[in-house]
Amino acid sequence: MPAEIRLFRCLSDNYGVLLRDSETGATASIDAPEAGPIEAALKDTGWTLTDILVTHHHADHTQGIQALKDKYKCRVVAPEGEKGKIPAVDETVREGNTVKVGRLAADVLETPGHTLGHIAYWFHADKLAFVGDTLFSIGCGRVIEGTPEQMWNSLKKLRDLPDDTQIYCGHEYTLSNIKFALSVDKNNPALTARKAQALRQVEDGEPTIPVTIGEEKLANPFLRADLTELAVDIGMAGKPPADVFTEIRARKNKF
Ligand SMILES: [Zn+2]
Repeated sequence: MPAEIRLFRCLSDNYGVLLRDSETGATASIDAPEAGPIEAALKDTGWTLTDILVTHHHADHTQGIQALKDKYKCRVVAPEGEKGKIPAVDETVREGNTVKVGRLAADVLETPGHTLGHIAYWFHADKLAFVGDTLFSIGCGRVIEGTPEQMWNSLKKLRDLPDDTQIYCGHEYTLSNIKFALSVDKNNPALTARKAQALRQVEDGEPTIPVTIGEEKLANPFLRADLTELAVDIGMAGKPPADVFTEIRARKNKF
């Protein structure tokens, strides 16, 4: 497979990700939470940064951009809806656009909710999706700028990706997400199994991502708001899925 990936930690709980096209050597950083760890990963791999693909404007995803741009003269691609809030943008993209990293090609998916202009990058041929702070393993981002209904629709869009798509998200939140998920979906064997797996991964000092969409569909309550059993379990039988999602998200905020 021509796509190579390096995953590493930035700040307190952010993930940095480098994606490289092994045919051309083109290398993208997905977001830029912190320049130092990204530069260290580039040095370690011997890869040369050519692009930064930004998912949304929050500082913990963008504050490394300017330093990297100054050093590598890389191209900065950002969501059209947030261009004014992101430094050093060269190119803006929206739903349906294609972004290339060397010969690797991503479809841009607009996933509003966490922020209004949030986008994800789906490299369909490589079965990879970089989803920022929209979807986390066993969780989802806080609905800060959009409405819960927008967020639910964005999550459904990601849920519709092929089951074997590997998901890279912006933060390591899996264990705390699982703790919450068990409070709304405690009889789910896929969730219990995921807990055992994540505990092992964290104990071994390994990341709990990537995960596949297929795995998340079975265990992430925020992708399961339209399932009867989940609605029943939280006392919302017969309610519209967007309302069930809104309730689960509200509970998570208070958890
Ligand atoms: Zn964010």
